[in-house]
Amino acid sequence: MEETSYQVLLYYQYVTIEDPEEFSAEHLAFCKELGLKGRILVANEGVNGTVSGTVEQTENYIKAMREDTRFADTVFKIDEVDKHAFKKMHVRPRSELVNLSLEDDINPKEQTGTYLEPKEFFEQMQDENTVVIDARNDYEYEIGHFRGAIKPDIRTFRELPNWVRDNKEMLEGKKLLTYCTGGIRCEKFSGWLKREGFEDVSQLHGGIVSYGKDPEVQGELWDGQCYVFDERLSVPINRKEHVVVGKDHFDGEPCERYVNCANPECNKQILSSVENEHKYMRGCTPECRVHPRNLYINKEHNLSEAEINARLGAIGEKRELNV
Ligand SMILES: [Zn+2]
Repeated sequence: MEETSYQVLLYYQYVTIEDPEEFSAEHLAFCKELGLKGRILVANEGVNGTVSGTVEQTENYIKAMREDTRFADTVFKIDEVDKHAFKKMHVRPRSELVNLSLEDDINPKEQTGTYLEPKEFFEQMQDENTVVIDARNDYEYEIGHFRGAIKPDIRTFRELPNWVRDNKEMLEGKKLLTYCTGGIRCEKFSGWLKREGFEDVSQLHGGIVSYGKDPEVQGELWDGQCYVFDERLSVPINRKEHVVVGKDHFDGEPCERYVNCANPECNKQILSSVENEHKYMRGCTPECRVHPRNLYINKEHNLSEAEINARLGAIGEKRELNV
């Protein structure tokens, strides 16, 4: 056996699930029995999951899923890894798979953008009349995105509809291409763009992850890494060249290393070099650096009062005396 003996599966299926609660409970038991770990969301409109396991466990899962007519055509994107990408197994019922906060939800089976395969997306992306819109969150865009893609100035996917309405002039009359990690968000977002009256709307079929695996395009025109929602945090996409677009939270230098703010009440994911992690005691703000529960100071490095003050002094900060 090769060293790489685990796999991560990423998939979604828009299909009617009559009883998401019941489905979730049964599916959780089934996944645990197989030995999988991961996170699966279940709604009336379908299922969206990422799971990890040994090659055998994940192959068994795919086989069992395909035997269910609802998932007979489900596309599983497979990544080879050397260990589990999750700590636990969760299957959770939800009201929607993707939250666009629309008054009127979109059913992608009825209305969605044209599917473009990686090669087609690669070609159309370079057309002068094209606007490429990143349908993900800003922290995802930060570490990697398609070259020239627009990042809507929003915090969450839910704010996207308002952003589109505010930026209508820039988008009107253009060929609109949307993309996201695995394709699930674009199914709805591109459908919503069409309903808004945009005529020429397409989406990257299978998402960024499939684009990176395509033997012909090999991820070309993707800059940086692709953020993923498991312990890997990010995965490479462009196999032809690697341009770093991530920037260190502290000094703005090119960086692709994610850490969590050491203040457990903040826990924000930031990009930071090893050097800056130590320099700033992994606190994302002055408040987080001296937070009484800062994990870097207490649990991890057991810093003395003098050492803390020395580090703060070096970055021109000092601790307020708090009671
Ligand atoms: Zn913080």
